[in-house]
Amino acid sequence: MEIALIILAAFVAVFLGVIIVRTLLFTPKSSITPDTDEVIFNKDKAVENLQTLVRFKTVSYYQKEKEDEGQFSSLLESLPTLFKKVFASCEVKLLPDRAILIHWKGKNDGDPTVLMAHYDVVPTLDEKWEKPPFSGIIENGVLWGRGTLDTKVTLNSALCAAEELIGAGFIPENDIYFAFSGGEEVNGDGAVRIVEYFKENGIHPAMVVDEGGAVVENVFPGVKGACGLIGIAEKGMMNVRYTALSGGGHASAPKPNTPIVRLSRACVRLEDNPFKMHLTKPVREMFDTLGRHSNFLYRMIFANLWLFSGVLDLIAKKGGGEMNALLRTTVAFTQSKGSEAPNVIPPSASVISNMRLNPEDSNQSALSYLKKTVKDEKIQIERLYGVEPSSISETNCTEWEKIASAVASTWKGCIVSPYLMVQCSDSRHYNGFCNHVYRFSSMDLTSEERASIHGNNEKIRLDCIYRSVEFYIRLIKKC
Ligand SMILES: [Zn+2]
Repeated sequence: MEIALIILAAFVAVFLGVIIVRTLLFTPKSSITPDTDEVIFNKDKAVENLQTLVRFKTVSYYQKEKEDEGQFSSLLESLPTLFKKVFASCEVKLLPDRAILIHWKGKNDGDPTVLMAHYDVVPTLDEKWEKPPFSGIIENGVLWGRGTLDTKVTLNSALCAAEELIGAGFIPENDIYFAFSGGEEVNGDGAVRIVEYFKENGIHPAMVVDEGGAVVENVFPGVKGACGLIGIAEKGMMNVRYTALSGGGHASAPKPNTPIVRLSRACVRLEDNPFKMHLTKPVREMFDTLGRHSNFLYRMIFANLWLFSGVLDLIAKKGGGEMNALLRTTVAFTQSKGSEAPNVIPPSASVISNMRLNPEDSNQSALSYLKKTVKDEKIQIERLYGVEPSSISETNCTEWEKIASAVASTWKGCIVSPYLMVQCSDSRHYNGFCNHVYRFSSMDLTSEERASIHGNNEKIRLDCIYRSVEFYIRLIKKC
């Protein structure tokens, strides 16, 4: 008996020892050495140009008749005046679906770098804004306006960087393409046309950079400092409709299981039985980078996921939000429809869920999970629209080093980490065509600023515009 106890105690001690040692060894990886050269450019011009771009009401709508096509073409027509040197020395192609491709010839004919952005924006609720969203007002070092963050800033910064470098006589090592679309917010085909153009002309990008992560604080448990998050994949998306039918009838004498009751049960089942957690490569690499900078408790969890992945799963399920979205396919019920009158049982009722698919899932696998979990053959489940998750880009390559170094050099002291983007971007059209697609919006954002993207009072600090241009200058110099 005594021996058994001693063995058990020894076993527990070794077990705890392994956990503690692994935690203690889980220390920050050697960080990237930032470039020390100073980047000089015309800061006033960068602000003025962005201000001009914001004033075009390039608002995308799913209902095409609401769009003002003139605003989109006026923005494009303004570019040669705003970026004179770029347009004097680069080849410009206008492609269908409001796509514009600007080709800057490099010294060599290695594979080119593609810098993407979109110049359309989402609609505004003007009455909720403190300043008019399309006036480009500058007050107290802040430029207000729809699109300042998403993504007119990166379009402007990339071109300002080129304008500055061309003026200084700089020629990139390899070709650079600026690839901009004007319908990203409504799943427009501008980026598709650009990818088609590349394929038809035998152009194979070495690296693609599009919107995505940013430099942010307080987004990872236990990490307070700034993190430069570069998306190496993005989740898929699917809209699903659940419909329940009945014989209808008057609400005064209902039978059990009316359509809304059935649908409610389905919603609850799906909330109570979330999709399985998957530690995909982007998330694993993110935990392995940022987890090392976290507090002892979280370091213990992230260093010992072989043991604590269940705990992590539980924390994510209970808390929801971004941590949960990184780990699994999510289901958000967003719309519902019932009877036309309060006293009529609906002959047909429906709810719609918007789903974000983990890289391990597909539209097909997610749909079968929904059917299996709802367990009600009388509920019809149909896919309305879907985008597959993107492929996952490499991080063990020179392309990753270039972008990671440009981030670390612009935002000195930030922790650069791979990340899984939970929204969709135009860069998904490079799936299977380029495996160095990096999703990074070159800005440092507060949580309030992040909330203003697609929300009210979108605005950017002028010093954030400067750093955005600096990032592109540093990046282009490496390409
Ligand atoms: Zn957007």
